[in-house]
Amino acid sequence: MSEAAIIDGKAFAANLRGKVARQVAALKADHGLTPGLAVVLVGADPASEIYVRNKHTQTTEAGMNSFEFKRPADITQDALLGLVRELNADSRVHGILVQLPLPKPLVEQPVTQAIDPDKDVDGLHVINAGRLASGLPGLFPCTPSGCMMLIEDQLGADLSGKRAIVLGRSNLVGKPIAQMLLRANATVTMAHSRTDDLPAECRRADIVVAAVGKPDMVRGGWIKHGAVVIDVGINRIPKDGGGTRVVGDVCFAEAKDRAAAITPVPGGVGPMTIATLLHNTVIAACRQAGVEEPKV
Ligand code: NDP
Repeated sequence: MSEAAIIDGKAFAANLRGKVARQVAALKADHGLTPGLAVVLVGADPASEIYVRNKHTQTTEAGMNSFEFKRPADITQDALLGLVRELNADSRVHGILVQLPLPKPLVEQPVTQAIDPDKDVDGLHVINAGRLASGLPGLFPCTPSGCMMLIEDQLGADLSGKRAIVLGRSNLVGKPIAQMLLRANATVTMAHSRTDDLPAECRRADIVVAAVGKPDMVRGGWIKHGAVVIDVGINRIPKDGGGTRVVGDVCFAEAKDRAAAITPVPGGVGPMTIATLLHNTVIAACRQAGVEEPKV
């Protein structure tokens, strides 16, 4: 039995960041345009702090302006909305990302919906969700966009005749990736916690995207021989001998014996998220400046 090709998201993301850096250099040289990304971090969640630091490093490495706004956990909802409005009006800022989750009692939805849809590089505004569902240009969520790039690299841009299953229906991952697969002409099944006989649904799929947040839930026997498996899950579990380790939603050791290609966790989908955020920021900057968008 042949083993799956391991999809190297780390290398793919590094390559994409390199392309973005070259695009930024060209925008500066040809149009005097430096794309700018503003990241808002509320509170001191250690995981969020790491994400924000990585975003800052990779944004500046790509030659873009990075603006960081750290606010205490007790900031009021109104003050946070005020900050978003200031960033909406700031012409140096082409992309705005509010790091989620927000500490309680802040409510996320009004904040994500206050971001100017044209600066919404996280793709969480309902206008961008509507644009995606309607097949119109917009700014779309970063992790699903990264997944699609990996799928396209394996199977090409036209997924006509392919059956895809998406496990999970969040606004952040499951719903947008299902829309993107549909746009690419795949026949898409959206599964979730109320779906009957998930293994049977999965076994029909040529493309499996798992985004549930349950360690090793998808077993090898659920995977059709020759399928492409994209594991979005990031789950921290106890490690033998103490400490923790990160695993995905797919049991990699089993699935790799049936899949044609599979993303590992870590090192698969994860690194794609910031790279596609940078790409979204370049797209947003070009549209705001009326400059032709570079192709990926
Ligand atoms: P959510 O918790 O928002 O959504 C989880 C989804 O999984 C829900 O739709 C839920 O169904 C479904 N689900 C839960 N249990 C089951 C089950 N037993 N069978 C079938 N479906 C189930 O998660 P996210 O979409 O935000 O994230 C999913 C995973 O992806 C997490 O591990 C997260 O850490 C990871 N992630 C990784 C990113 C990256 O950069 N690589 C970025 C974002 C997320 P229902 O709606 O019915 O409750």
